[in-house]
Amino acid sequence: MRNIPVITIENISKCYDKNNAFVLKDVSLEVKKAEFIALLGPSGSGKSTLLHIAGLLDDPTDGTIFIDGKNIKKASDDEKTWLRLSKIGFVYQYHHLLQEFSALENVMLPQLIRKKAKKAAKEKAFSLLRDLGLKDKANAMPAELSGGQKQRVAIARALANDPILLLADEPTGNLDPETANLVFKDLINITRNNGMSVIIATHNYELSEKTDRKFLISEGKLQEK
Ligand code: ADP
Repeated sequence: MRNIPVITIENISKCYDKNNAFVLKDVSLEVKKAEFIALLGPSGSGKSTLLHIAGLLDDPTDGTIFIDGKNIKKASDDEKTWLRLSKIGFVYQYHHLLQEFSALENVMLPQLIRKKAKKAAKEKAFSLLRDLGLKDKANAMPAELSGGQKQRVAIARALANDPILLLADEPTGNLDPETANLVFKDLINITRNNGMSVIIATHNYELSEKTDRKFLISEGKLQEK
């Protein structure tokens, strides 16, 4: 069977405004199955911009994206929405958990939106929370969880529909260094065990050392380190 890259980013450029400079210039990146990739660069260098384009949340000014071999230029809006919901998971710096739902319910929600049966969604949510060390916190409300625990729930929620690609934008940026380290390790383990590919934006060079490949964005260009 042909080993199709999970995502191919081909000669992407991005300019938000005609009068502004290009944020990304001719950026290309291919991510294989189960690869864990770090995107490094200072604040404002274009990491989020690249993740938004990779996650089909924004269009590039130029260039093409292939998700699981599918050329996005040829995809309808409905197809893009389907790809985003079924193949891509997102984790942000802020957890964005729904406060009125328990940890378990927060992880069940994206599955119920995809019409999964409630029992199966609950089992999946529980198994993800267990794998992330939150077996005893499944019924806790977000307000009852620490910062690291909330971020773990956000990771479980992003993985709930078995995406092939996880896009993480500074997911440990709000955590103290020790907690950041632990959450990062768990993120690597759970995605490796499930054969998922990850692109993680971070300005933490120490954590990036644990990834398979690292890239620096500088002046709009992507450079492998
Ligand atoms: P990073 O994630 O590395 O901090 P961003 O991708 O957020 O960088 O931003 C890169 C550049 O693009 C910055 O100069 C920022 O001001 C600009 N930018 C980001 N989003 C927008 C937007 N929606 N409209 C205009 N400019 C933007």
